[in-house]
Amino acid sequence: MTTQIGDQYLVETERTDPEIFRLIKEEERYQVDSVRLIPSENYTSRAVMEATGSVLANKYSEGYPGKRYYEGQRVVDQIETLVQDRAKALFGVEHANVQPYSGSPANLAVYFALLQPGDKIMGLALPHGGHLTHGWPVSATGRYYTAVQYEVDPKTHLIDYDAVRAMAKAERPRIIVAGATAYPRQYDFAKFGEIAREVDAYFLADISHISGLIVAGAHPDPAPYADAVMTTTHKTLRGPRGAMIMCKAEHAEAIDKAVFPGLQGGPHENTIAGIGVALKEAATDEFRAYGQQIVVNAKALAGELKERGFDLITGGTDNHLILIDLTGKKVIGKKAAKALDRANIVGNYNTIPFDTRKPFSPSGLRIGTPSVTTRGMKEDEMRQIGRWMDEAIAAVKDEDALDRIGEEVRDFCRQYPAPGMSVS
Ligand SMILES: *Cc1c(COP(=O)(O)O)cnc(C)c1O
Repeated sequence: MTTQIGDQYLVETERTDPEIFRLIKEEERYQVDSVRLIPSENYTSRAVMEATGSVLANKYSEGYPGKRYYEGQRVVDQIETLVQDRAKALFGVEHANVQPYSGSPANLAVYFALLQPGDKIMGLALPHGGHLTHGWPVSATGRYYTAVQYEVDPKTHLIDYDAVRAMAKAERPRIIVAGATAYPRQYDFAKFGEIAREVDAYFLADISHISGLIVAGAHPDPAPYADAVMTTTHKTLRGPRGAMIMCKAEHAEAIDKAVFPGLQGGPHENTIAGIGVALKEAATDEFRAYGQQIVVNAKALAGELKERGFDLITGGTDNHLILIDLTGKKVIGKKAAKALDRANIVGNYNTIPFDTRKPFSPSGLRIGTPSVTTRGMKEDEMRQIGRWMDEAIAAVKDEDALDRIGEEVRDFCRQYPAPGMSVS
């Protein structure tokens, strides 16, 4: 899927706005020359970028296909309908709303559709891997709804389904949310669905991080069990920045009304077209192989790190991400992430479950393999990355050593062309 785009890229931007042009090119160089391990990031194809940057950005189309508040929709209606159909086919769902601007407003739309203000949301606590929008206090979802938060098991750091059930029975939430940003294992969506039914709650599966794995058959699918499935489109799914809400037909009207006019105005049809291109790509054998390889790569990288004495939360991974507890290495997450970035390896500091340090300077480091897998890297490359990570974290204060590693990493990266780039 790699497409080198060459000389035509950004020619008008260069002419009219050299400052922005220069900075975009600088970012592009950085994306080519670094090992990008942020588990929520990726490289989209050039086709996705083109659709997203197309004339569709000129349109206003409040409403839905066939029911718009603006004329001039004879083409846009066809686009949005096509993208909805692709989402429904790919995820095997009855209804798809492809208009949410991003994952956070999409989760809010699900609550707005199914709950009353003050109703109870039960989600995974943020420091245990949950997302802000699963009811964390600083989020609107924690302010305008009542939130209770489950945690992972103190010993295994796995979701304890008996504890989830006990909390659901005691708290009687209106909705239970499964999904996370820093959980390295699979979710038992069938079990979440069962618990939600037992307490007469709705079940929202937030598959933002793992939707690409689900499509590739590398993670179980929540669609049969969930009232609503929300995914961002820009993580493992490898589309433009956006989100989709998929649901059973019985919730379709409420979900659509919550997105528009409940929370949003005009949909970004350019992004929707980009999502459509990504969904078509995601239906291919090539995408399936990529999704499977993400997990194979994550296991290989985890194996290398473990051999080098890194302590991994839950002892490893069975999805795309790895959460490292750096306590034993005597380095804090922020310092490690900074040192790695200097060495052209980009991850992010993160809390670990039951972290004794503050959220702005936690003990953990979060990494993942979607971007490097998109570049065609495999297990050998993961082991090499693990070696460099170990060297860089050991040399956390030695800028010369970090710069030396950075040069090696850069030369290595240039052998793995990234999609959509005009340089290699
Ligand atoms: C990324 C993410 C979101 C939010 O998506 P944004 O597009 O950043 O608003 C919501 N839930 C989960 C689990 C996520 O990983």
